[in-house]
Amino acid sequence: MQRIPLVAGNWKMNTTVPEALDKARELVDGERPEGVEVAVLPPFTHLWPMREVLHGSGIALGAQDVFWEDSGAFTGEVSPASLSGWCDYVLVGHSERRHLLGETDEQVHDKLARALTHDLRAIVAVGETLDESEAGETLEVVHRQIDAAFTGIERAAMARCVVAYEPVWAIGTGRTATPELAQEVCHALRVRLGRLFDADVAAATRILYGGSVTAGNAAELFAQADIDGGLVGGVSLKPAEFLQVVAAAGGAA
Ligand code: PEP
Repeated sequence: MQRIPLVAGNWKMNTTVPEALDKARELVDGERPEGVEVAVLPPFTHLWPMREVLHGSGIALGAQDVFWEDSGAFTGEVSPASLSGWCDYVLVGHSERRHLLGETDEQVHDKLARALTHDLRAIVAVGETLDESEAGETLEVVHRQIDAAFTGIERAAMARCVVAYEPVWAIGTGRTATPELAQEVCHALRVRLGRLFDADVAAATRILYGGSVTAGNAAELFAQADIDGGLVGGVSLKPAEFLQVVAAAGGAA
């Protein structure tokens, strides 16, 4: 099964609107290989003007989060209904939301389910903390997160879902999982999706690796059989290096 690699840049809470538009223009003007999907996830406030800059470029636009209701008294939250039709992706379950803001597995599921009803595509992030890793609980944790996120999701909607394996200890730390470890966990996640759905869904679903991906380590990570690209934080704020990561995904395609 040929899966189209995806490299998604999570800009987190960085850049002003003008800075973001400059970075987006650099990406639009930069060289990108055929056969690799690229997405950028700027802060919410930047999404609408970024849409103009990215228009026609083939670069997808994504939001870093979304709420689980369509409307109502939820001060500060952003509805999937308000993103639907012009924003391509939403990210749910990022470890900074799980661990800094206390987001639960159930909330991640609810966000995913609601986003999918609005035809949005979703990147679902899972990953273990350092303590969990050292206690040998990696697979237990990521299986729990995958089961919670995807149980009850319609099989047909899985075509719009991407999984990102992001060991928490590798995010923003400069400490990358070895390609072997990342492959082992991504493979286990694919097997788990096969159990939750079926072999076709498992084979078709893209699984990204995230955690200190750089231009220097991307090619080896993306060459792994079950790794279909990357979710990139820090390096995605440097358009030239981000494009090198995208190029690495082209080499693995
Ligand atoms: C992320 O935040 O999803 C991430 C992977 O960050 P970084 O690339 O900086 O480790």
